Amino acid sequence: MASADELRELMRTEGAAVAQNTQGFNEGRYRSVADLSDYEELKSEARAIKEDAIERLPDLLDQLTDAVEENGGTVYIADDAADANDYIREVVADRDADRLVKSKSMTSEEIEVNDALEADGVDVVETDLGEWVLQVADEAPSHIVAPAIHKSRESIAELFNEVFDPDQPLETAEELTRFARGKLGEQIVDAEVGLTGANFVTADTGTMALVTSEGNARKTVAATDTHIAVAGVEKVIPTVGDLHPFVELIGRSGTGQDITSYVSLLTPPVDTPVVDFEDDETPLSEHDTDRDFHLVLIDNGRLAMREDEHLKETLYCIRCSACSNSCANFQSVGGHAFGGETYSGGIATGWEAGIEGLDVAAEFNDLCTGCSRCVNACPVGIDIPWINTVVRDRVNREDDRPAEWLVDGLTPDEEDKGAPLQKRFFGNFETVAKLGSATAPLSNWLADAGPSRWAMARFLDIDPRRELPTFERETFVDWAERRDSTVDDPDRRAVVYPDLYTNHVQVERGKATVKALEALGVDVTVPSVASSGRAPLSQGMVATAEDHAERVTEALAPHVADGRDVVVIEPSDHAMFQREYEKLLDEATFTELAENSYEVFEYVYGLVENGTDTDALPTVEDGRLAYHSHCQQRTLGLEAHTVAVLELCGYDVTTSDVECCGMAGSFGYKSDYYELSMDVGDRLRDQLEADGVEDRQVVASGTSCLEQIDALLERQPRHPIELLAE
Ligand code: SF4
Repeated sequence: MASADELRELMRTEGAAVAQNTQGFNEGRYRSVADLSDYEELKSEARAIKEDAIERLPDLLDQLTDAVEENGGTVYIADDAADANDYIREVVADRDADRLVKSKSMTSEEIEVNDALEADGVDVVETDLGEWVLQVADEAPSHIVAPAIHKSRESIAELFNEVFDPDQPLETAEELTRFARGKLGEQIVDAEVGLTGANFVTADTGTMALVTSEGNARKTVAATDTHIAVAGVEKVIPTVGDLHPFVELIGRSGTGQDITSYVSLLTPPVDTPVVDFEDDETPLSEHDTDRDFHLVLIDNGRLAMREDEHLKETLYCIRCSACSNSCANFQSVGGHAFGGETYSGGIATGWEAGIEGLDVAAEFNDLCTGCSRCVNACPVGIDIPWINTVVRDRVNREDDRPAEWLVDGLTPDEEDKGAPLQKRFFGNFETVAKLGSATAPLSNWLADAGPSRWAMARFLDIDPRRELPTFERETFVDWAERRDSTVDDPDRRAVVYPDLYTNHVQVERGKATVKALEALGVDVTVPSVASSGRAPLSQGMVATAEDHAERVTEALAPHVADGRDVVVIEPSDHAMFQREYEKLLDEATFTELAENSYEVFEYVYGLVENGTDTDALPTVEDGRLAYHSHCQQRTLGLEAHTVAVLELCGYDVTTSDVECCGMAGSFGYKSDYYELSMDVGDRLRDQLEADGVEDRQVVASGTSCLEQIDALLERQPRHPIELLAE
């Protein structure tokens, strides 16, 4: 796991370049997919093709082998990296090749084929500009699509000037690119073997689709007489026709390009005559088209992933990088921290766990906060946060921990095999909150006292720079119990879910919710219900989260059966009801709650849309708000409801568009991640302090967002529901 020092150093040295590039890609994605009227249909189509292909993979591999052999090529299915490298070395040795040129291929990074060939004395040259920069710099990729994303133009100029000592120092992007093009052109001319990856391989015809920005894959194939293509077995799809949705989606999702500069469909061995670069007169006609083609398909753990209920989804990944670009933490630290041996970003946990093992995935898995912003960005609809959660759960169960028996005895969770102490603490935060409220204000005073903060920092790695939550003595449920409804003849009836923070810490937003709903003619009840399980789930304590989910639905079911709507204030809990409970509960139980629960402003908006008199809403003149919605609320498409209701009240609302505030529940409390959390938060601060925004009242929907904004700004943020109860 990257330490706080390592993360700080990466943010200092690579953070600016990574942030600029990933945010540019991410903004490009939003723009590009907005132009696509059938975006969601294309995603569903792509997903269905991948599901079908992985389901029928053994058959498709047989079909593909027949097709490639019929075309005159060879297919080799390699068990692992060593097996693949042995085969490739043999092909290169048979060709008696001194130089092999490569186009970009993450799978070739995975098997470390460069090292294997260089050990045999073969000159391996990367022809993708980013990969070549890294080869010259002797660095590892930090992004699956743009491998040198962490390097600025200035640092590349410095590198080239130092290594190549050109006549005129290189400076501009154009000069650097022209120089690289010249250098690489010289190398390609002398190469005997070309090695490419493959974005997709079709089983029906043996056709490979390669998407590139530089056209170097074509050049690699055309300029050499021996072509080796390396791809994971999961790259096989049934037919050439199936390429359509992927070609539409891959460039838009990754770099925000409507279509990548080059989409090459090759059915090797290609017919193009071999080029004689020495012969200016007849470079083609004197040569035959006798070409050799080897398709090396790599298993390396993938067939076992196919049998794994949770990791299987990873195999649908088309490596577009949208999950990296949309990830707030990735935007700050890049793939050198948020990545394993080969793969980086949110989905890297699945790849690295399946290919390298849990220990490699454990190194960076905690950098996924489960914010879910990658979920809608993924063109094949992979539930990336869920894969991260499952792997975290497996990692938790890996090691025996000292004093586990003591922690087991003290914590009420369902973990039969322990998690680290810090995770157990945060995963059992409901117990802490109950104790905190029962003994407040003493608990608040004690928690904040020097020795307690020292002990929290020492044993739980809770960063002393974070302000702790203040527990209220009277909980939201207690408050609701001792009052009578003000609605005699209700239009609707609702149960307000008392989430952990509203119940024990931010009680005022609970009271405001009840008052606002009653003003709109809703009869409200606030029963005592368990916390949603969000806290244990975010620590990878899946069994405990499942137990919470069962208790919550058991408590709410009678209210739903009685005709009450479930209103949820905290977006991360609403997301549990709408998304994660599907994984934790049987279908009927999940569906009943999901269909009957509403985020509070979604509910108010629904009331208004369905005829509730808007006179009950407070109105303001000249109210100016800056609104930051919660990441999971945005993933569920519920940001607009809050804005619409606030505008109905007369507010002028501007919204932030950062992917996440950086706090993400317990994440920002952890010493290792405090500075990363604040770095992510800085992007939100910049927006909230921008011209025309700096004097607006700040409102935010999520507990974590409110805590983070409170730490970032002088202005104190509020939950928007409080404005409706004024
Ligand atoms: S998981 Fe989805 S978003 Fe991430 S790289 Fe794979 S296809 Fe792209």
